[in-house]
Amino acid sequence: MKKVAIIGAGPSGIYCALHLKGYCNIDIYEKNSPLKTLLVTGGGRCNLTHFAQDIRDLSKNYPRGEKFLYSIFSKHFVDDTLEFFKSIGIETYMQEDFRYFPKSNSAKDMREKMLKTLANTKIIKKEIKSLKELANYDFIVISTGSKSGYNLAKEVGHKIIEPKPALCGLKLSNDSPKYPQGVVLKTPEGEILFTKEGISGPLVYKISSINARKNFPYEINIPLIEPKELFQKVKNNPKKSFGNIVSEFIPKSLAHVIVKNYEKSCANVSKKEIEELSKLTFKVISSDDKGEIVTCGGVDLKEINNKCQSKINPKIFFCGEIMDIDGFCGGYNLQHCWSSAYCVAESIKTYLF
Ligand SMILES: Cc1cc2nc3c(=O)[nH]c(=O)nc-3n(C[C@H](O)[C@H](O)[C@H](O)COP(=O)(O)OP(=O)(O)OC[C@H]3O[C@@H](n4cnc5c(N)ncnc54)[C@H](O)[C@@H]3O)c2cc1C
Repeated sequence: MKKVAIIGAGPSGIYCALHLKGYCNIDIYEKNSPLKTLLVTGGGRCNLTHFAQDIRDLSKNYPRGEKFLYSIFSKHFVDDTLEFFKSIGIETYMQEDFRYFPKSNSAKDMREKMLKTLANTKIIKKEIKSLKELANYDFIVISTGSKSGYNLAKEVGHKIIEPKPALCGLKLSNDSPKYPQGVVLKTPEGEILFTKEGISGPLVYKISSINARKNFPYEINIPLIEPKELFQKVKNNPKKSFGNIVSEFIPKSLAHVIVKNYEKSCANVSKKEIEELSKLTFKVISSDDKGEIVTCGGVDLKEINNKCQSKINPKIFFCGEIMDIDGFCGGYNLQHCWSSAYCVAESIKTYLF
């Protein structure tokens, strides 16, 4: 039997092992506990994937890797993932916002079931520092997640696209609109949570992801009030103060921060003043690394073929976050792990017979 080494027992490494089990000899090397990284996902509930109509619909949620994923998702899509989990006793359900979770609502339960299915596959507690340690294997899967596996990929000769934090909070300049820490502001595009040094929350995570490769400082504009609605209100209430009208749309304390002339009567407010209030402009000075959920960057996709195999050394395969692929919040990052891991397993199988 051929021998396969999997470096990293995170979601991608374990899913790959589950699909290779029985076909070859597998040794999994893990420096920590297997699937420890799964435990924190979805706030402990594990948002394992997201509903999508088709491959393009799913792929557009990856600011990095969109086109590369077309072929990966064509081999293993959302329904294949759900079916596989069902086959190993993990029933799932879809929330109103189209995110999928295990019915148990427990990442811990999912971890236990996945590891139980692996049964007696060898998981060796060891940090692999060089691929030379694995010279006697026929194939090596690098599924080390973000930064810690980059040296292994470099050893093969792979280029690493510079890692940057994505899906994280953002720190703001002192002249950006500030709001008390802990307050949540509802905007037409989503909620913003004000933190000690800036902003956070799902909408901000998405913004941080889209702008992950931008140099700091940069400006972001978040829609705040629909200008047509505000214009109508101002027109209908010429005697009221502009600040009070704005307060009907957003919390009063924020209106005090952003309306320059709070007491000005609506009759004297210009169209430009109304338009200015339709969005909040923030100057972002850095990311808040503490909130980092995924890494933007990793092994350059130009050097990996559509079998998730290294174009430099065909013995080497990659799956999961180690590659320069990252998605938005909502189960997209795990779906990429499942699909790329499946792709690696199927690619290796073609060499076994
Ligand atoms: C707080 C938080 C919540 C999240 N929630 C979600 C969510 O709900 N849904 C979603 O889709 N995504 C979520 N994510 C993202 C998701 O967890 C990652 O995309 C996913 O874990 C990546 O899986 P991976 O297997 O590629 O890497 P990892 O999960 O990072 O696993 C890699 C493994 O390799 C091991 N390793 C690394 N280097 C070596 C080495 N040299 N030798 C041996 N072992 C090594 C590590 O110890 C680790 O166990 C969340 C992330 C965080 C931080």
